[in-house]
Amino acid sequence: MAKAYIGLGANLGDREANIRRALSLLQEMEVARVRRVSNLIETEPVGGPEGQELYLNGAAEIETQLSPCDLLEALKIIEVSVGRIERERWAPREVDLDILLWEDEVVCNKILTVPHPRLCERMFVLRPLADIAPAAVHPVTKMTIAEHLAKLAGEEEQ
Ligand code: ADP
Ligand code: MG
Repeated sequence: MAKAYIGLGANLGDREANIRRALSLLQEMEVARVRRVSNLIETEPVGGPEGQELYLNGAAEIETQLSPCDLLEALKIIEVSVGRIERERWAPREVDLDILLWEDEVVCNKILTVPHPRLCERMFVLRPLADIAPAAVHPVTKMTIAEHLAKLAGEEEQ
């Protein structure tokens, strides 16, 4: 069993229901066991088209027997099951499931980069992740999630 953290986001439809449904599907489809879920926070959209609705964001700790690439495939199937349809990149979405961390491994191939490439620069990812995994160590920077959150908060203040 591998421990991984996934990012949860939604800004269309009943955002909380979409995220809760995705978490139930992870278990029902035997993709993963959901061990912990952060608070869901409301955040401003970053990037993408103008005029998007606010997001609801969170993070979950899971245990899975799937490989990182198989987990990504399963997350995409769940996104579609919850109602996500294909749109341009960073467009509004019913649900978005990203792999943030996978054990302390680094994965980099055509379809998947772990740790998530924008993890350390996104407040809306670091805040919920720090809720449930402040001491988790980023395998590239060797800093903890709490340290990354403090660093980004300091940079945003300037
Ligand atoms: P985003 O999450 O960046 O807003 P998408 O959900 O549409 O956009 O994802 C675009 C692609 O990013 C996915 O099809 C996937 O192949 C790729 N990707 C690369 N690394 C990751 C990761 N760690 N988690 C999720 N998707 C990833
Ligand atoms: Mg995504």
